[in-house]
Amino acid sequence: MARLILLGAPGAGKGTQAKALAALLQIPHISTGDILREAVAQQTPLGVKAKSYMEQGNLVSDDLVIALIKERLSQPDAQKGWVLDGFPRNDIQAAFLDKLLVEIAQEYRYAVNLEVPDDVLVQRMLGRGRQDDTEEVIRRRLQVYHSQTAPLIDFYQARNKLMSIDGNVSPEAVMDTLKNLL
Ligand code: ADP
Repeated sequence: MARLILLGAPGAGKGTQAKALAALLQIPHISTGDILREAVAQQTPLGVKAKSYMEQGNLVSDDLVIALIKERLSQPDAQKGWVLDGFPRNDIQAAFLDKLLVEIAQEYRYAVNLEVPDDVLVQRMLGRGRQDDTEEVIRRRLQVYHSQTAPLIDFYQARNKLMSIDGNVSPEAVMDTLKNLL
């Protein structure tokens, strides 16, 4: 049973790799960013609450994303495994996830950290041109990443779950490394 958590900065390639891995393994790709963007587009209550945080490059409140993940992981398709992308993003979310997975008896294999230098991240994000990819918002997202998400590397290392891989190579090369891990 494949259950993987993808860690890494914004622009590190989590989405690209998560999508490809999920397709390969025929398990869902669960991206909190995608789910939130869809909610914003549909103007659901969740989307209305999340919008301004996302536009500014800040994290959406833990309560909202935690409820979202809890619901998503309870869906029938998630019982076959999953690739998590964009969650957890801080220590509260990580602690919640560990507890939830024990409760629902789902054990994850690795938290995979995609390592990419900041200057490369900025160039990649400027290139992809998503709505929240303006230079100012990108800088803010990186700041939030370094202060809140990067400490999770130690969190997973301490649990012997961390796998760090070089993300500053072609998407195909990253994918090959990931396949070898499985
Ligand atoms: P990125 O490529 O920057 O990692 P994502 O698609 O993962 O982008 O996330 C886009 C935005 O959605 C984030 O900047 C944040 O506002 C919000 N978001 C996504 N996941 C979470 C989460 N786990 N906790 C809080 N906010 C989140």
